[in-house]
Amino acid sequence: MNISRLARAIAESPTLALNEEARILRERGEPVINMSIGEPKNKTPMNAILSSATKLSGGDIKYTPPDGTPSLKKAIIRYTEENYNKVVAPENIIISAGAKQSIFNILYSIINPQDEVIILAPHWVSYPEMVKMVYGIPVIVTPEDGTFHPRMEDIERAVSSYTKAIIVNSPNNPSGEVYSPDFIAQIVDFCERKKIFLIMDDIYHKLVFDGVVWKPAYQYTNTDIENTMVIVVNGIAKLYGMTGFRIGWVVTNRKLVEVMTNVQAQTTSCTSALLQSAAEGALNGMQSVVENLRLTFQNNRWVVIEELKTFKGVRLIPPKGTFYALPDFRSYLPSCLAKDSIELSRIILKKALVVTVPGKEFGMEGHLRLSYAGSIKEIKEGIERIKWVLDPSSPNEIYIGDRKLVRDWL
Ligand code: PMP
Repeated sequence: MNISRLARAIAESPTLALNEEARILRERGEPVINMSIGEPKNKTPMNAILSSATKLSGGDIKYTPPDGTPSLKKAIIRYTEENYNKVVAPENIIISAGAKQSIFNILYSIINPQDEVIILAPHWVSYPEMVKMVYGIPVIVTPEDGTFHPRMEDIERAVSSYTKAIIVNSPNNPSGEVYSPDFIAQIVDFCERKKIFLIMDDIYHKLVFDGVVWKPAYQYTNTDIENTMVIVVNGIAKLYGMTGFRIGWVVTNRKLVEVMTNVQAQTTSCTSALLQSAAEGALNGMQSVVENLRLTFQNNRWVVIEELKTFKGVRLIPPKGTFYALPDFRSYLPSCLAKDSIELSRIILKKALVVTVPGKEFGMEGHLRLSYAGSIKEIKEGIERIKWVLDPSSPNEIYIGDRKLVRDWL
């Protein structure tokens, strides 16, 4: 088959592929624990259900304006005022089918072939692939000091005359790191001076723990919304646990919104009217939903930290936000005869039916991403199973479902 070179070069989404694998195993009745999952387990917030149910029962589900309904924009304007202390106009907003499409639309609208986009490792799996999809070049910057926190000097060294944008995701998927206000201030200043777009992927911004403060990039610029290089991306997937509703948005200058609107109008026409009304319900409804999720993840995170402490060879930088941890399993690779994190993840799935995401996908080889969006029981059992696979200090026998298994490889 004559598939295009570009399309062929795009990697499968590893997280979606792993979720699918877990689903198939579970359907077969296998007692799988999915620690790869990137979504909260809560039920859809009641206000979102009511709002979309009203819309649905009215029977009037038609095209909306390509950049989104005026009423959802109104809710986003209020959200931006409350959470970003920034007053924006409806013309500064475009609503898309998830933050994923929002980011793709931005890249499609600003990148010329061979333009470079700086991505800070560990990074979300989709950024490099999206940059490649618009014929740009992803430039990955990895902290040299073994932390998950980027340093300005590393970024400045990676910047060239081709650098068009930098993507910042804090709280960060996959590490759970929250970048310091100092760093955000520096990178905003740098991008404003150098005229480099600063794409802030704020999708996890309220999921921060133990008093850690998240600061919006807007706080560090005096440049008005029409001229700032800061582009904000947000959505309802993670904060409201509404992953299936596929609503995200961008806040930026009018010109860029206009261009993205044309792109979106020619590709998807608009985001579903029904789902936009659900998002409106979530944003205008009770915000305790978000705080409840945050508290759940904060609690779950302690369980992960405590359970991983019992491993001899695991190093964990405690996450400050999100619902992910990215422990370093490098010391276990040799004893499992795994050459990398992809093999390690496969071994854990095969032997213990626990789904993890290999760090290699995020630019952090030797690590595994563990999601703690599940229940405490699952988290505890999942980590206990991983320990059984890797760590000789754990008991030799384990029950997985109703099967008793004996370890004979360490
Ligand atoms: N950015 C990051 C960092 C993410 O982790 C995700 C979802 N995994 C997205 C964007 C996409 O969010 P949405 O579901 O709204 O497309």
